[in-house]
Amino acid sequence: MKAAPFDYSRPSSVKAAIATLESADGDGKVIAGGQSLVPVLAMRLGRPSILVDINRIPGLDSIDKVAGDTIRVGALVRHADLLEQKHIPLLSEAAKWIGHSAIRTRGTTGGSIAHADPSAELPVVATALGATIGVEGPAGKRIVSADDLFVGPLETSLAESEIVTSVSYPVPERWGFAEFSRRHGDFGLVTVSVAVVGGLVRIAIGGVGAVPIRPLEAESILNGSPVTDARIAEAARAAAGDINVVSDLHASAEYRVAMTEQFTLRALTQAIGNRMVGAN
Ligand SMILES: Cc1cc2nc3c(=O)[nH]c(=O)nc-3n(C[C@H](O)[C@H](O)[C@H](O)COP(=O)(O)OP(=O)(O)OC[C@H]3O[C@@H](n4cnc5c(N)ncnc54)[C@H](O)[C@@H]3O)c2cc1C
Repeated sequence: MKAAPFDYSRPSSVKAAIATLESADGDGKVIAGGQSLVPVLAMRLGRPSILVDINRIPGLDSIDKVAGDTIRVGALVRHADLLEQKHIPLLSEAAKWIGHSAIRTRGTTGGSIAHADPSAELPVVATALGATIGVEGPAGKRIVSADDLFVGPLETSLAESEIVTSVSYPVPERWGFAEFSRRHGDFGLVTVSVAVVGGLVRIAIGGVGAVPIRPLEAESILNGSPVTDARIAEAARAAAGDINVVSDLHASAEYRVAMTEQFTLRALTQAIGNRMVGAN
């Protein structure tokens, strides 16, 4: 199948891109890396009247250290560049698991965050780190926390004609990442990311719900108490108990629950095994 006809625009500023989206009255779509949008168009699951190509907008493709210990990643930073950066090794590890090298060369941070696939790596890591998303739209600029951005599968709280311009991540004191996929390059059946930020453990789990899940009970088992192997195991069990999955073509619900416990255990052990949280 081929995409339905559409107009094409390549603005040179965020403001011009927003104006073009506004004039399409909700019927326009941003295109960045095209790695998720083009298949959608080709299968005619979407028929936007105009594509707004943001690839030539300057200033959206850098990775910068900003105030405090925060790294701002521009919306047009490719997964391949995220893999290479040294500021936050957790981002590098997560990027390694995204598709294959051709996809990582084109796919962008802003595209992955805005597409909001519940199995995608970057939304999970953004949630674990407590990232904030820089957004610009007809009403101006705003900052949204990752916890508030993802509202459903392929659904965000972005308003019409809003564009993701950057994602800012705190540098974590410690981190862990564990993913299970059947073949290299597949979306994860279960993806777990752990980050210790400001002495507190945050956990996010992808592939087991409509959005990346934060198992708050598991976090509270670990925060404020000395971390022991027994507590880590208890937290992993609590995380698995916090998810509500149904069986699908890829895995039964029981399998995903078991994998959630196992991979949460791995990510937690990598991040905080044999350590006292906050004692770094
Ligand atoms: C075979 C294959 C395997 C893949 N495997 C994985 C995987 O394992 N893990 C994974 O995470 N991803 C995977 N992907 C998806 C890939 O990572 C995409 O690059 C990513 O999901 C979307 O980024 P993009 O820049 O390509 O966005 P696009 O495809 O250009 O856009 C995706 C959506 O986001 C919107 N959008 C894009 N940029 C912005 C922005 N700045 N502001 C607002 N809206 C925006 C678009 O309008 C569209 O709705 C795979 C893709 C393919 C084809």
